[in-house]
Amino acid sequence: MKLPAALFLLLGASAAQAHDIRQHASHMHGQATLDLALDRGTLEVALQAPGIGILDFERAPGTAAEQAALARATVLLKGGSWVTLPTAAGCRVGSSHATAEGFDATVAPPSAAQHRHAGFTATLQYRCANPAALRAIVVRLPVLFPGLHEVIVNSTTANGQGRNVLTPGNLRVVLAP
Ligand SMILES: [Zn+2]
Repeated sequence: MKLPAALFLLLGASAAQAHDIRQHASHMHGQATLDLALDRGTLEVALQAPGIGILDFERAPGTAAEQAALARATVLLKGGSWVTLPTAAGCRVGSSHATAEGFDATVAPPSAAQHRHAGFTATLQYRCANPAALRAIVVRLPVLFPGLHEVIVNSTTANGQGRNVLTPGNLRVVLAP
């Protein structure tokens, strides 16, 4: 099959721009992404958050206060207290991880035109005795980190998929009924 010339040009342009688009789209300052997956009794929570949002910088900490803020944020994200599950669901944390990436001092500072991103990832895994009770989950990230204006939540359960946008005024994730 021969591609029409216009389409071919379009595809070529997309490929050339893909790198730029990916760099900017994958990480918006002030906006985090949370993936929730419920599979029978196992709930997986995966967070990707920009440094600017959790903290107010994306470079190696320059002061003791910044160093402390970085450490505090990582501990808080790993601790999982930012997620509140219904007591009736009987969930227990099985594992939790949190990583800060791009805050090391070994990389040369970027030029003014070139922002080098840094951010956080965190995963929490729960085992829930009564997953049917997991109708709504409270995620307090926009309150704990005022620099996070939005948390986009994509959720998957056996009943379907959902999308919620959390803001300081709306911390509830409603799972597919
Ligand atoms: Zn950034």
